[in-house]
Amino acid sequence: MKKGRIKEIISRLEEYSGSRTSKRKKINLLDLLIATKLSQNTTDKTSYIAFKNLKNKFRNWDEVSSASLPEIRSEIKVCGLADKKSADIRNMLREMKENYGKLSLEHLRKYDDDKVYEELLQYKGIGTKTVSCVLAFGMDRPVFPVDTHVHRILNRLGIVDTKAPDDTFAKTKILIPDDKKIAFHTNLIKFGRSVCKAPKPLCSECVIFDLCGFKDKKYYCEFNAGKVKKNDFIILENL
Ligand code: SF4
Repeated sequence: MKKGRIKEIISRLEEYSGSRTSKRKKINLLDLLIATKLSQNTTDKTSYIAFKNLKNKFRNWDEVSSASLPEIRSEIKVCGLADKKSADIRNMLREMKENYGKLSLEHLRKYDDDKVYEELLQYKGIGTKTVSCVLAFGMDRPVFPVDTHVHRILNRLGIVDTKAPDDTFAKTKILIPDDKKIAFHTNLIKFGRSVCKAPKPLCSECVIFDLCGFKDKKYYCEFNAGKVKKNDFIILENL
């Protein structure tokens, strides 16, 4: 796909979904990592409630690291996979305490991107997308996190032709301009929830219809015309 088309898609989705800048207030990196972990396989709204519950119940992450699993679980059960997430979060906090002597990730700000990936990927339950979110939303690095929405839409558009989000992540490193990476990621997620949905995209309502290479787009124009329901809450924009 030509760079001009990508630029036009980025610009129209900025208009449609509203995120334009990557600059944001400084966020505590461990808060960000745990919020992103909670948001795996669930909605941003429920993971935000789970994150707030944890912050209200425990004074700090040290208290979470020494809490019982049922105590942690009951605060985050709203966001699903609570058994796994409780165990992963508590184990991760305990390992970090051992590795760094305290529960803080602020030292990562001194590292380059590769070193941050290497450091955080050692923890169970933390994948490339989660680390990319820490880099993008916590450190304002020009990184383009790829989740299932982003992967699906970029393949439908024909910007990439890949099988898995990690392949899309590798391909898009040079395709998306650095100063647009974070806002484009956010706009694609909002767009993927409301219009370019997983089972039935609402192609008749699409602001980038003419730029899309999806072969079934005319077929999908017949479904659910006019039924766009916006869902613009992004947890990482609200910490
Ligand atoms: S035309 Fe359809 S498939 Fe293509 S981006 Fe728009 S909603 Fe998605």
